[in-house]
Amino acid sequence: MGSEMCIRDSVVNGTKIWTTSAHCADRMFALVRTSKEGRKQEGITCLLIDLKAPGVEIRPIITLDGKHVFNQEFFGNVRVPVSDRVGEEGDGWRIAKFLLGHERSNATYVSMNKRNLRKLKEIMADQRADGERLADDLGFVRKVADLEQDMLATTTMAMRQLAAASADKPMGTEASIMKLRVMDAYKQCHELMMEAGAYYAQPFERGHIRGEANTEWVGPDYLYRMSPDYFESRAMSIAGGSHEIQKDILAKRALGL
Ligand SMILES: Cc1cc2nc3c(=O)[nH]c(=O)nc-3n(C[C@H](O)[C@H](O)[C@H](O)COP(=O)(O)OP(=O)(O)OC[C@H]3O[C@@H](n4cnc5c(N)ncnc54)[C@H](O)[C@@H]3O)c2cc1C
Repeated sequence: MGSEMCIRDSVVNGTKIWTTSAHCADRMFALVRTSKEGRKQEGITCLLIDLKAPGVEIRPIITLDGKHVFNQEFFGNVRVPVSDRVGEEGDGWRIAKFLLGHERSNATYVSMNKRNLRKLKEIMADQRADGERLADDLGFVRKVADLEQDMLATTTMAMRQLAAASADKPMGTEASIMKLRVMDAYKQCHELMMEAGAYYAQPFERGHIRGEANTEWVGPDYLYRMSPDYFESRAMSIAGGSHEIQKDILAKRALGL
């Protein structure tokens, strides 16, 4: 997105994609280019944009499971008062890094991972059609035990991050380590659930996911969400900056490579 700075207002033109819940929001923050001078990190300004302002259009992006979570916004000569500028003109990159540190450290998923692990253990304890239980399959039990260890370690790391955030300390590179490890554990848990659910977990029924189906689901209730949740879990190593980007940050800022 680009913006011309006037004495009082900015005028924003351009587009921004993948904004979660923009259709429910009154305002958004945006990083806009206000100068082409200097390094590419310079000349970026952080603005708070009123999504009801003239010239703003929000278009929905519907995901595979039929849900409306994502959006793309289009800006045509949208005026933003200088009072809605965050920090100084050209200081947006510093603000963005601060916000991204918090976004990554917010992604601790402690309760979500605990809930998913509990669900996985319930599935393991359930009897399968052949009368066997996954809880008696030592290979599978070992994979779940490894995952539980990882989750314990990431929970400790997450607690440290949350304590730093509440003490208003900068997030640092630990936020990237945590995002990598937490999201890997999250994805691993969904992979094991799919393995446990086997053939019954594979149907991908939009109607059941959206609560609009007028037929009964075949098999236990937890199965109808298993494959959409699995696909959604794959996106978690992209949201908030992809895994490769986190590794780059660690290589440069933590290891000085
Ligand atoms: C569930 C979800 C929710 C999201 N919510 C929001 C939101 O609310 N607001 C918002 O602004 N955005 C949101 N996003 C967008 C998200 O921030 C971006 O998709 C993400 O940062 C990746 O950027 P990109 O799509 O431009 O991919 P790119 O950065 O272009 O990456 C494309 C591919 O190239 C690889 N790559 C890129 N650079 C390097 C490199 N230097 N070295 C090695 N590999 C590299 C990446 O790993 C990836 O595989 C969301 C995305 C998802 C999946």
